[in-house]
Amino acid sequence: MEENSLYSEGVSPDRPRRKRHKKVARTRKTDILGDLTSKFKNLKYAKSSYITISVVVALIVAVTVAVVVSRPKVYAVVMDGEAVGYVEDVDLVDQIVDRLVEEESFRVGAEVQVSTDMSFEVAKRDKELELSDPDELGQTIKDKIAFQAMSYVICVDGKDVVALSSEEEARGTLSDLRENYVKNIIEPGHATCDEVLIKEKIDIVQKEVSTAMFRTRVEAEQILMRGTDKILSYTVQRGDSLWAIANANNLTVDDLKRANPTVSGDLIHEGDSLNLVVPDPYVTLTSRETLTYTQSIPFSVEVTYDSSMWPWQETVTQEGKSGQKEIVEQVVRENGKEVSRTRVSETILSYPVAKKIVRGSKEVPGLGSGTLIWPCQGSITSYYGWRWGAFHRGIDIGASSGTTIKAADAGVVTFAGYSGGYGNLVKVDHGGMVTWYAHMSKFAVKTGDKVAQGDVIGYVGMTGSATGPHLHFEVHVDGVAKNPLDFYK
Ligand SMILES: [Zn+2]
Repeated sequence: MEENSLYSEGVSPDRPRRKRHKKVARTRKTDILGDLTSKFKNLKYAKSSYITISVVVALIVAVTVAVVVSRPKVYAVVMDGEAVGYVEDVDLVDQIVDRLVEEESFRVGAEVQVSTDMSFEVAKRDKELELSDPDELGQTIKDKIAFQAMSYVICVDGKDVVALSSEEEARGTLSDLRENYVKNIIEPGHATCDEVLIKEKIDIVQKEVSTAMFRTRVEAEQILMRGTDKILSYTVQRGDSLWAIANANNLTVDDLKRANPTVSGDLIHEGDSLNLVVPDPYVTLTSRETLTYTQSIPFSVEVTYDSSMWPWQETVTQEGKSGQKEIVEQVVRENGKEVSRTRVSETILSYPVAKKIVRGSKEVPGLGSGTLIWPCQGSITSYYGWRWGAFHRGIDIGASSGTTIKAADAGVVTFAGYSGGYGNLVKVDHGGMVTWYAHMSKFAVKTGDKVAQGDVIGYVGMTGSATGPHLHFEVHVDGVAKNPLDFYK
C-alpha cells in the first residue's frame, strides 16, 4: 500500500490525516477502521494481552485485505497514449466502442476497424481520481476515435482524393462526373457531346484508409469537381453589389465570378443565391462537342435611279428577304470554359433575296429667294423654345379654320401627308432651307409640286396634337429647326 492511499492512513493513525473525502463509499470505510482502532484500545487492558494483540493484529490484516480485495479496480481508458477517462467496468468502454464501430460501419457502408490505439491501464485509486460519467466518456471516445476500412480510393495523378465503399460506387462517381458535366454545358437540341475526357490520370485503388476519407457518390463528385463538398452561399439583398459581397467574404470579384459562372457581367438580383466557395477542382474535364445552329443571311439593297422622279421619291420594286444558313462548329471546353471553336461546315439553307429600290434623281432647282413671307394671317400664340417642359420647335399662329396657308418662299413640296402629332403636314424645300406647315385641315398641294412664294399650299385646321385651329410653322436649316422669327427681321 502506498502512503497516500486510504488504507495506510487507517492503519497508521499517527500519520497526519488528509482532508476528509466527500465520497460516500470512502467515508463508510473510514468508520469501520475507526471502530477497529477503538476496539484495539479497549483490549490493551485485558490479561492475556499478547495473545489478544496478536489476534487483533491478525484481524486488522484480514479485514484490510478483505476490504482491498472487495474494492473493484479502476482502469484508465488510454487512447493513443492519453488517458481519456476512468472506469471500473471495462465492458462499458467495449460497449461504447462497439456502438461507434456499428455506427461508422453504417455511415460509410463498409466494415470498419478502430485505428486508434486503445488500452486499459490499472489506475491508482487517488482521491483526486473521479470515475468518468458514461455519457461524457462516450462523447470523448467518439471525438477521439478513428476508424479505417477497406475502400476504393479515387486517386488523381497519384494523390488519394476520396474514398468510396465499393468499386461500383467509385466508378459510378466518375461516370456521374462526366454525365453531369455534359448536362451543364450542352444546350439540348443544339449540340451533341462527342467526348468527355479527364485530363488527369485517374486510378481506382483498393486500400485500407481512414473512414474520414469516405464520401457518398454525390459528395465525391463535388470534391473532384470543386475541390470541396463544402457549400456556403449568400442570398443577394437589395442594394448589394458583387464588389461588396466579395469584400465582405474576403474574396475578389474574380473569385466570386469563378464561383458563380452563371452570373453575367456585374448583374445580380435581389434574392439570387451566390456560391461563396471558390472552386479548386482536382480534375479537368475536357469535352468536345458539335454545335449546330442556323444563322440568318442579311439581304442586300440594290438601288437604281430614275431621273423622272424627285430625290425624295422612291419605289420598292422587290421586298428583301433574309436567307438562312446552317453552321456546324466543334467546341472544345475545359471545365465548362470554351477553349477553342472550329467551324466544321456552313450550309446555305435558303439564299437571301435582295431588296430593289428605284429612287428619283431629278434635279431639284435651287428656288428659294432667301426671304420668307408670313405664311398665314393671324397672331403668334406660342413662341419657339422651351414650353411646359418640352421644346417647341416652331411658332404657333392662331387663325380660324380654313384660313389659307401660303408657301413662305418658292420651292418644291417634299412631303404632303399625315405625320403623327403634326397631323396634316406640308414640307417645302427651298434648297437648303425647309419650311414645315402643320395641323392643316386640307392640303392644296401634293409631294413633288413646285410652288412659288405666296402660293396657297393648304388650310388652317387642328389635325394631330392641336387643341384649337392654328398653324404650327417650323423653319429648318440643314436639318435643324431654327427660330422662325429670326427670318423676319
Ligand atoms: Zn406649335
